[in-house]
Amino acid sequence: MTYDTVEVPDEGERIRVIDEEADELDVPETPIIPILYGDGIGQDVSPAAQDVLTAAARATGRDVAWMRIYAGSSARELYDENLPDETVEAIREHRVAIKGPLTTPVGSGYRSLNVALRQTLDTYANVRPTYHLEGVPSPVSHPEQMDMVSFRENTEDVYAGIEWEAGTDEVERVRSFLEDEMGVEETIHDGPVGIGVKPISEHGTKRLVRQAIDYALEHGRDSVTLVHKGNIMKFTEGAFRDWGYEVAEEEYGDEVITENTLWEERDGEQPEDAVVVNDRIADNMLQQVLTRTEQYDVMALPNLNGDYLSDACGAQIGGLGIAPGANFGDALCLAEPVHGSAPKYAGEDKVNPTAMILSGAIMFEYMDWSDAAQLIKDACEATISSKRVTYDLHRQIEGGEKLATSEYAAAVIENIEELA
Ligand code: NAP
Repeated sequence: MTYDTVEVPDEGERIRVIDEEADELDVPETPIIPILYGDGIGQDVSPAAQDVLTAAARATGRDVAWMRIYAGSSARELYDENLPDETVEAIREHRVAIKGPLTTPVGSGYRSLNVALRQTLDTYANVRPTYHLEGVPSPVSHPEQMDMVSFRENTEDVYAGIEWEAGTDEVERVRSFLEDEMGVEETIHDGPVGIGVKPISEHGTKRLVRQAIDYALEHGRDSVTLVHKGNIMKFTEGAFRDWGYEVAEEEYGDEVITENTLWEERDGEQPEDAVVVNDRIADNMLQQVLTRTEQYDVMALPNLNGDYLSDACGAQIGGLGIAPGANFGDALCLAEPVHGSAPKYAGEDKVNPTAMILSGAIMFEYMDWSDAAQLIKDACEATISSKRVTYDLHRQIEGGEKLATSEYAAAVIENIEELA
């Protein structure tokens, strides 16, 4: 395959799909992996992560042939467009890719490129593992209790939200339709109003919850919690819960037990060899992750709840500089950190690349390079435990050594070589 906007490396081979439904890949020793540096601090964290990932691949007897792809400011500079079709195509064809953050203008300007990428690629699950690395400062007393993985729906809810602006003809037509034809009375205040709708579908919910349950079963996790606001929005958030339970009950036989009683009523007893599927209302869940941290494992959430909750969980294990993520579709993985492009630090060689590095570790796990992924995690932990950290952690650690982004990456690589 040749592209106009992407230079294919001379070395390396493409990852191929053996079975799309079973998510089975054939990964060569030197795969071609697309990398999108991104905007703002993407220019700092992406090359740092690239070096660390290469070092981990080589330390485990493999290599990576990186292929630069472009979106956002880099694509505008080179090709005068925000998201070239070939960027999307290259990710789809190579099956795994890693990206830095992309800036989204607030209020006006172009639509989020992150949302466009996730929707076009149909990477319907945004997966964010939240675990504590020893030595990372945390605002809670027992950050080590946090070991959760959130599966956030990535294509609908507010990502597919439709809005009409106050004062426009369109919003007045929607208001009339709701009041005159749908019988919605006395709900909308008089005067200017913005109106939005959000879809949550059976298809979108079930394929997400399936991924979460499959993950829990494969990784020996105890529970999957459906997090929703179904007490208020019965036909969207409530339906998410109901369809989630339906998948659990209809597709997994004895492997899954649906259980919605409080943990104490069972004295914390976990049925052996079965994953418990339960549900929690989103606002309660935001405090449960603080007060009963160790009781939660895997979470499945609609888009907006997932955004809030995974950032809140991320704060408990050291903040955005640490929190990794990845978007999964069928036989497709696009890894990316949870954080954004933090434009005020762009190009300063200052911010923490751990989130981007650990996102790469998720990508390696997906490629069945678990030894390389573990090496990366151990090397980050060893570096942080020795108090060699970037500014964000340095301000919370007494007596630490403050490193630049590139110096921290070099320290992680030293540890990879030592631990390998
Ligand atoms: P942000 O870029 O994540 O930055 C918010 C704050 O988080 C930073 O000021 C910094 O806090 C801390 N932070 C973020 N990344 C860090 C890192 N690697 N190391 C250390 N600290 C880090 O959030 P934002 O300012 O709300 O968003 C900026 C732009 O990014 C927006 O255009 C937004 O739409 C976009 N965004 C993109 C993605 C994505 O591409 N997936 C995700 C989220 C946001 P301190 O200043 O307190 O140290």
